[in-house]
Amino acid sequence: MKKLLTILLTTVLCSCQEKKEQLNLTEGVHISNVTIISTEDGSYSPYIGHLVVEKDKIVYVGKDEPNLSGTFEQIDGTGKFVTPGLIDSHVHLPGVQGMLPHHIEKYPELAAEFKSQMPRSYLYFGFTTLIDLGGISKELITSFNGQEAKPDLYHVGHSGAAVANGYPMNFTPEEYRFDAVPNFLYMESQAEHIPDKYDPADHTPKAVVNRIKNSGAIAVKSYYESGFGRMMGLPVPTKGIMEDLLTEAHSNGLVLTVHANSLEAHSFLVDIGVDIIAHGIWNWGKYKDVPRDSLPLEIKRTLDLQIQKQIGYTPTLTVIEGEEALVDTEFLDQPGLKKAVPKGLLEWYKTEEAQWFAKEIFDGLSVEQVHMVYDNVQAHAMLALKYLSDNDGLILFGSDTPSAPTYGNQPGHNGNWELKLMKEAGVPLPKILASATFNNAKAFHLDASIGSLAIGKKANIIMMTKNPLRDIEAYDAIEKVIIGGKIIKRENLQVNE
Ligand SMILES: [Zn+2]
Repeated sequence: MKKLLTILLTTVLCSCQEKKEQLNLTEGVHISNVTIISTEDGSYSPYIGHLVVEKDKIVYVGKDEPNLSGTFEQIDGTGKFVTPGLIDSHVHLPGVQGMLPHHIEKYPELAAEFKSQMPRSYLYFGFTTLIDLGGISKELITSFNGQEAKPDLYHVGHSGAAVANGYPMNFTPEEYRFDAVPNFLYMESQAEHIPDKYDPADHTPKAVVNRIKNSGAIAVKSYYESGFGRMMGLPVPTKGIMEDLLTEAHSNGLVLTVHANSLEAHSFLVDIGVDIIAHGIWNWGKYKDVPRDSLPLEIKRTLDLQIQKQIGYTPTLTVIEGEEALVDTEFLDQPGLKKAVPKGLLEWYKTEEAQWFAKEIFDGLSVEQVHMVYDNVQAHAMLALKYLSDNDGLILFGSDTPSAPTYGNQPGHNGNWELKLMKEAGVPLPKILASATFNNAKAFHLDASIGSLAIGKKANIIMMTKNPLRDIEAYDAIEKVIIGGKIIKRENLQVNE
């Protein structure tokens, strides 16, 4: 009997030990007893467990403690939470917030300080992946990637696929705009306004998408914008052009994401079935004066179709807030901003010279009038987002940092603000986290390497002292950022004073 017991016990012990993962590490990290928060389908079942990284990859994640040998750093995760690093799928890296080229020329040291801090500011707020949705030069990609601590960067090529003379080409003077937007689309109706040196054959959807693909892009960015404010009647793509762009993008394995924020634009794009719309619906056209709490049937129908087709919806609520911030005298004194923006530049923002953009857009309006207009637009944007969220639309996190030459949209800080505005709009916390991790990774075809905590994925991880499924303040309680397996304490990412 005793012998039998011994055999039984040995078998039980052995099978237990056999189950234990054996991992030999050379440059490892073991986070023990931590609450693991990750999803592969949009739903969350957090648990206390272990996460092991070797070099830049996750090699173990699970409830049981693995058997580790070799060289690794041990982090006690008791009482803490880990999630995948956040993905901001709508940023613009070129330029300096709030500055025009002549300001950059006048204050080169302010611009240089901003540029060297910028990648670290994104990491400081937990953003380990950025997707630049404007145009970006090879030189900028190289210099960004040359920084020691920086998020992973993806892009849409050297320029977006804008129709000739349409948004946002219209901002650049005519003599430079075609060179500045090498991937512009030829449109018959604009033929007379395109210089002869450009061959229409180089500007078909097919030629443009091929060029974008060859520049290492992961997506094609296009635009449907007929104008706003005093800028109206801009040329917009035809249905045929947009459909061709979609076909060409897909045959090259790229995603088509399109700028649109009006009802007219969203219904045009939803009908075609593009992959992602890069903004929410806040420009309600003829419904702009309806009460803030009523969603007109026509807008509901457009959202319903967007939900049914699971077209990605990027709310970008900070576009509105970041312009309104220009009349807020306390905005620049926020403690969070001091972590992300070098002191000299923050001081410059307070000068008269830095108010140039506010003067341009708010010309003649009182502060009260600005708040009235923007608060109304934001209430509409939030209502549309809430409806989409309540009805299981596909929400993708994107901050559009910066959406305009405003100092109101700062690296990392703006994304953090966007997360809070989504909560304010009524999006539940699990959906907010999924939008910034799993949903973005999947929508941009990056889910083989990022977006969740799973074996084989890149070790882009954030560790927090609060639970992001319960408390929006968790995004302010980041303790460590792990990027490609490299552990960085949060305080080492902030502006050096
Ligand atoms: Zn943008």
